Amino acid sequence: MPNPYLSHLQCTICGTSFDPTAVTYTCPHCGEAGTLDIQYDFDRLRADRQWEHRPDRADMWRYLPLLPVQDSRYIPSVPVGWSPLIDAPRLAKSLEQRQLWLKDDGRNPTASLKDRASAMVVARALEIGAPVVTTASTGNAAAALSGLCASAGLRAVIFVPSKAPPAKIAQLLVYGATVLLVEGTYDQAFDLCVQASEEYGWYCRNTGMNPYTTEGKKTASLEIAEQLDWNTPDAVIVSVGDGSIIGGQYKGWRDLYDLGVITKLPRLIGVQAEGSSNIARAWLAGSDPAKMSAGPADTIADSISASLPRDRVKAVRAVKESQGAYVTVSDEAILAAIPELARQSGVFAEPAAAAALAGLKQARQNGTIQANESVVLLLTGSGLKDINSAMKSVGAEGGHRVAADMVAVRRVIEGLTL
Ligand SMILES: *Cc1c(COP(=O)(O)O)cnc(C)c1O
Ligand SMILES: [Zn+2]
Repeated sequence: MPNPYLSHLQCTICGTSFDPTAVTYTCPHCGEAGTLDIQYDFDRLRADRQWEHRPDRADMWRYLPLLPVQDSRYIPSVPVGWSPLIDAPRLAKSLEQRQLWLKDDGRNPTASLKDRASAMVVARALEIGAPVVTTASTGNAAAALSGLCASAGLRAVIFVPSKAPPAKIAQLLVYGATVLLVEGTYDQAFDLCVQASEEYGWYCRNTGMNPYTTEGKKTASLEIAEQLDWNTPDAVIVSVGDGSIIGGQYKGWRDLYDLGVITKLPRLIGVQAEGSSNIARAWLAGSDPAKMSAGPADTIADSISASLPRDRVKAVRAVKESQGAYVTVSDEAILAAIPELARQSGVFAEPAAAAALAGLKQARQNGTIQANESVVLLLTGSGLKDINSAMKSVGAEGGHRVAADMVAVRRVIEGLTL
């Protein structure tokens, strides 16, 4: 049984409402840019006091009343979400930021925030009886779908660029997905996945296309709110590729606002890599994201490399409606943020996740964020996902090679200040 408070699907461009069972992917009038919002009857939810969470579950499903799929038979057994919100006073001090928290989503079962979306899509696949789920991905969405399909006993068919980091490809293979290593870009893999999904009747998880992904990703905001005792931080900093995570952040905060649980939205600050900054540029120019054409996508942070960002309409709306902003950061700044974050907080993040720290520094520099504000960095993926970039980030600092005796050890240690 679907959520009885589910009311309709609504197009983010033309505003048309659809019955939740009538449309599977994007708006039939607006085409691929016409992403849909899943909407609930908030008045009735509030009146019935049905939105309250389920503290007995230490995962994203503790917010079951605010999620579209509710039958516990469809919830994958591997727990996703309820990641820690870590107070980071040393990092805050070094940045002269009054209050800084780290939402560590690298701790999910496949080590990225994408598990939230994949868990939701897998639950939906079980609800509609789809045996095969497919996705295109730069790597993390694919790993997440492979892992969650394995947990639920579904088949996963994956389209990834053959140049995806080896750790991410290893995950797909270990989870037993059918893996197509596309000799091309993420955007080409995306189009192939859509065509194959139509041809073979597979259920498609693609970011921006499938509205259930946003509902999964919004649980990160619901958790942050609860972890702050239902208070709103001044800003949440989110790295942006396709724009689905920041769209999900907005949806979560917005749902809580519409329910009357919180009284203000945090400002959402989107961070893009300079070499893949199509959404940031559209926001700055005030141009219509729906009409965007493909642009450059060149960054070391593979998870935020997107030539035609698929969730661009929600991504621009998230920042506009929350009075936030976009900032762009260089690959050098992203790499430098990896050891800085790790050394000041103990959290090891992949480049696209560490980009949030680089973005905070940029936002402080250009006055987008003030020193007295409280800030959450959404850390979207684990550093173990991309060891090559991690090694590059520490540059020439190799370890100290020593002969296997104490004389050699003393020679090294005595030359150091610890
Ligand atoms: C997917 C991903 C992002 C960006 O999310 P979008 O929804 O594509 O904007 C950022 N960081 C990591 C680790 C990711 O896997
Ligand atoms: Zn539409």
